Amino acid sequence: MKKTVLILGAGPAGLAAAYKLLNESKDYKVIILEKQKEIGGLCKTIDFKQNKLDYGVHFYRISEYKEVNDIIYNLIPIEDNISIQLTKQEKDRYVKKNQNQENSDNIMLIKEATSNIYFDNKFYEYPIKINLDTIKKMGIINLIAIAFSYLKVLIFKKKETNLENYYINRYGKKFYSMFFLDYTKKVCGVDPKDIDIDWGKQRIRDTSLISIVKEKIFKSKKVNNEPSLIKEYYYPKYGCGQTYEKLVDKIIKLGGIILTNSYVKDIIIKDNKITKVNYFENKELKELEVDYLINSIALKDFVSLIRDDTASKSLVSEIQRLPFRDLILVNIILTKKDMLKLSSFQEIKENSWVFIQNPDVKFGRIKIANNWSNYMLKDKGSEQVLLTLEYCCDSKDPINKMTNDKLINQVKKELKLLKLYPKSGIKDYKITKVKNAYPAYYGVYSNRQSFINYLNKYKQIYFVGRNGQHQYIDMDKAMYTGLCASKEILNKTNNKKRVWL
Ligand SMILES: Cc1cc2nc3c(=O)[nH]c(=O)nc-3n(C[C@H](O)[C@H](O)[C@H](O)COP(=O)(O)OP(=O)(O)OC[C@H]3O[C@@H](n4cnc5c(N)ncnc54)[C@H](O)[C@@H]3O)c2cc1C
Repeated sequence: MKKTVLILGAGPAGLAAAYKLLNESKDYKVIILEKQKEIGGLCKTIDFKQNKLDYGVHFYRISEYKEVNDIIYNLIPIEDNISIQLTKQEKDRYVKKNQNQENSDNIMLIKEATSNIYFDNKFYEYPIKINLDTIKKMGIINLIAIAFSYLKVLIFKKKETNLENYYINRYGKKFYSMFFLDYTKKVCGVDPKDIDIDWGKQRIRDTSLISIVKEKIFKSKKVNNEPSLIKEYYYPKYGCGQTYEKLVDKIIKLGGIILTNSYVKDIIIKDNKITKVNYFENKELKELEVDYLINSIALKDFVSLIRDDTASKSLVSEIQRLPFRDLILVNIILTKKDMLKLSSFQEIKENSWVFIQNPDVKFGRIKIANNWSNYMLKDKGSEQVLLTLEYCCDSKDPINKMTNDKLINQVKKELKLLKLYPKSGIKDYKITKVKNAYPAYYGVYSNRQSFINYLNKYKQIYFVGRNGQHQYIDMDKAMYTGLCASKEILNKTNNKKRVWL
């Protein structure tokens, strides 16, 4: 008799877990419940009037987890093209000989990670280049201030009690306040002084001002794969979600069941064991007996589904207060010939994305979709420019309550401030609101370890992915946690510690 594994959420984590179980054993019946009508979670690609839209900036790089690379680049191999970052081994393993975007639809393009950062009404190449242009824009006084404030922290290290000190220890106060402070505030919604250093560990890892300088001078390879400093990324010809569509095909071929528009009503637990799961499949209430449950939905939502007389009310109520940031994506289509007349656009037109520090502009990042894959645009980018603007906010933020018309008016104003608004205006737009896009690292986050210890009492339940673990992680790590959970089930080892990051 097959054991039943129920997976909540068809994002990268849930799909990776399902794939591993089904690919390595015939002993499991795997059912995925996905609340949305599409699969892929935050990594999906959606259609908009024959254009393709991702959920903002979503690129692939070579992961530190080989098992994840093997899945991703076997689903969609990398094109046979010039690469500045792939090792010979990686080329042998993940590049498809003689295949490129012209002769294959199932291919990852190799893209140079060009980006800018907008600060003090100027665009700077990012990571900051040490060249004449930077010196001219920044001014010699600022440069000296950067050098001195960096030297200061080399001598007087700050106690790493919060994210601000974490950044300052690596970049010095001046550089931090110019290039990190306002963007971080936009994403997190609070001052970095009030954010746990774990956020910095996920986002900038062990990079520092000196590592940027070393990188420039010695062309060191070490920092190449840091998320904030990558030089090249890989991108499916038809958008980030193409990978997960292919993964779903495999899962279904292996006998997996994926129910979209479906979600759990409640999970009945007695003596820490799941007795029954009630769920809605397309609005119809059904019930299921499960042997294992792999959860990738937000922890705060998950604990609300549990019916367990022995549950700790105080811990559950704390978990329900885990903070998240929402995301509003404003995708706009503009006329290319008019954009090219704008000197600001001339500066950034080759970029993949641009960080916006200025606090007057509420969006934090612009993605220029044309530079990821021409195939994202209906006209292959010949006449149109497709920009995605990322606004991070809380559910109660006024911007979250704006009508589309009001929001587009705000967008116009902000684009004008950046001198990125063409005379012909916005030709078309699509607004997508994403709940729980960023697990936040303040408030009750500091008690995360006690939540983990508590949740581990449910032996059949594994917690995976970004929101399922409340960790600011990229898709490769999310997939890795899914693979780890399935490994514990397959090996019958049930070691929860190996699954939590
Ligand atoms: C703006 C932005 C840019 C990013 N850029 C990158 C990048 O460049 N590279 C990178 O590697 N990563 C990037 N990430 C991170 C990446 O999106 C996540 O790491 C990844 O999506 C996490 O996968 P997941 O499966 O854990 O969660 P998700 O992708 O969030 O999937 C969870 C799934 O659960 C479903 N769900 C939620 N509630 C329920 C419920 N009650 N019942 C059933 N289903 C439910 C959701 O609909 C969703 O499909 C970015 C994230 C954001 C927000």
